[in-house]
Amino acid sequence: MLDYYRFKEVHDLFTKGKCDEAKKVLGMLQEKYIEVHDENEMLRTQLQEFEDILYLAKNLEYDGHSYWLKTGTIKQGPFCQSCFDRDGLLIRLGESGDQWKCLSCGAVYQRDDAAAINTGRETPERRESGAKVIQLYK
Ligand SMILES: [Zn+2]
Repeated sequence: MLDYYRFKEVHDLFTKGKCDEAKKVLGMLQEKYIEVHDENEMLRTQLQEFEDILYLAKNLEYDGHSYWLKTGTIKQGPFCQSCFDRDGLLIRLGESGDQWKCLSCGAVYQRDDAAAINTGRETPERRESGAKVIQLYK
């Protein structure tokens, strides 16, 4: 913890003309500041990682084949189950006929909604209780 009184001490030493002593104390304070700053950055990074993990734990759903991420009222995905379980990566699956395919690891997943799409009765966007699915691949 940086100490206000140490900075005041530096100021008083400069005022009294004790510049060498003031520089020595100031150097120690700078080293301490850098340590505190670096620790703060590391803690911020860890906090962000924990927040990301907590967010995923709360909002990631597994439908028996692949993962979906809820973001507000929007449901994004599907994401590759293999890539997430192995590497913790959310890799969006691409449509490949009546299947979903991971462009990273090559895993193929059967689309539950394939029959509905073929008959034109229902689209994936409307199937999941009003949730909207953002599709990157067409
Ligand atoms: Zn994959």
